[in-house]
Amino acid sequence: MSKGSFKRRQFLIALGTATSAVLLDRAVGYAQQPGKPEVTKIRLGYLPIVESAPLIIAQEKGFFAKYGMTGVEVVKQANWASARDNVVIGSAGGGIDGGQWQMPMPHLITEGVITNGRKVPMYVLAMLNTQGNGIAISKALQGQGIHLRMKDPNVIKNFSRTNNRKFKVAYTFPGGNQELWIRYWLAANGIDPDQEVELLTIPPAETVQGMKTGTVDAFSTGDPWPYRIVEDDAGFLGALTAQMWRFHPEEYLAIRADWVDKNPNATIALLRGLFDAQQWCDQSGNRQEMTKILSGRNFFNVKEDILIDPFRGQYTMGDGQRNVTDFNMGPMYWQTSRGSVSYPYKSHDLWFLIETMRWGLHRGFIKSVDQARALVNRVNREDLWKRAAQASGIKPPASTSRGVETFFDGVKFDPANPQAYLQQLKIKRV
Ligand code: CA
Repeated sequence: MSKGSFKRRQFLIALGTATSAVLLDRAVGYAQQPGKPEVTKIRLGYLPIVESAPLIIAQEKGFFAKYGMTGVEVVKQANWASARDNVVIGSAGGGIDGGQWQMPMPHLITEGVITNGRKVPMYVLAMLNTQGNGIAISKALQGQGIHLRMKDPNVIKNFSRTNNRKFKVAYTFPGGNQELWIRYWLAANGIDPDQEVELLTIPPAETVQGMKTGTVDAFSTGDPWPYRIVEDDAGFLGALTAQMWRFHPEEYLAIRADWVDKNPNATIALLRGLFDAQQWCDQSGNRQEMTKILSGRNFFNVKEDILIDPFRGQYTMGDGQRNVTDFNMGPMYWQTSRGSVSYPYKSHDLWFLIETMRWGLHRGFIKSVDQARALVNRVNREDLWKRAAQASGIKPPASTSRGVETFFDGVKFDPANPQAYLQQLKIKRV
C-alpha cells in the first residue's frame, strides 16, 4: 500500500465516521431530541411497598437528576386514601402532583368517582412493576388446603357455620388491584366474593394484628407485607399474584394531566430517569443495594431481611406448600419474557376497567366496553412513554396490546374481545 492510498483511506474512514455522526445527530434531532425541562421539581407520592422501588431508586441514585429533574421529591403517603386526597390538592396546595397508583385509581380520579365527584384528569405514563403481591391466609386456617387451587372451597363458603361470622378478607383500598386479585382468586375457586365472604378495607399493620388475633382471615397486598405475615408466624401464603397471572400488570406511575400538559419536557425527563431506575432495579446484582436503600428509615423503615427474599424471588409459602425460589417470580421492573414491564399497555388498563365492570364496583361507573375503551384512550399516555423511549434509544413494543392473557384457572382475556372474557367467567355482576 502506498503512502498516498493509506492517507486517502484514513481520510475516507474519518469522513465516513463524521458523516454517520452528523446523520445520527440529525436523526435524533429531527425526531425527538427533548427540550430542557420546564421545571426541575415535582412531588410524587409513594406507598412503602415494592411497587414504589423505581421512584425511590430514580431519586436516590440520581437518575431523575441525570435528565435535569434535580428537585424531585418522593413523598411517603400514609395510605391510598391520603394519596388520592393529596393528588386532588396538588403540590401547590401542599399535596402531590402524582406518583404510584393501584389501578384503576387514575381513571377513577379522572372521572371523579372516588373524589366526591371532583374530576381531576390524570395521565398513566408507565407501569412501575409486575408481580410482588400475594394473598396471605391466617395461621388458624392451616391444613385445609386454602392455596392457589383450593382443596375444598366449602371451608370458606361455610365458614359461618362454625365461626359465627363470614370468612373475612382484607385489602388496603376498595376497588384497586389488591381487591381485584383476591376477588379473582376467590371466584376462580368457586366462591362468590360479594355473597360468601366479608370484604374489608384496613391498613396493613392492623391487618397483621387482626390475623394474629383471629379477626382477619385473608389479606391481599404488596410485598413485603404478605411475607412479613409468614415471618411473624401469623399466617401463610395462599397464593402469589405471579402464580395467578404470570407477569400481570401491577402498579403505575400517573401524574395530573394539568402538570403533564404544562411540563411536557419535564415529563419526558422524568420518564427517562424512571427507565434508568427500572433497568437498574432488574439487575439481580443490585437487589442487595436496593434492599438497603428501601428498607431505610426514610423509606420503608423495615428490617432488610424481610425485603431481600421477595427481591430474590424466594418465598416461604408455608402450610406444606413448596417454596418459590425463582428470581422471575418476584417483583420485576423493566423486562420479562412477556415483554416490557415499564410500557403501559392499553390492553392492561382495559383489563382493570373490565374487571371493575365485572364486579359492578364504584357505583357501576363503567357500563360498557366502549366506555371503558374511551376512558383508557383518554388516560393512558403510552405515546409519551414512546417519546421518552425514543430519546433514550429504547425500542418500544410494537403494539398497544400485549395480546391474549391467560390466568391460572385457564380463563383467557383477549383485549380485542373483552365480552368473550366476561362470558367465560362464572361469578360476576354483569
Ligand atoms: Ca400492589
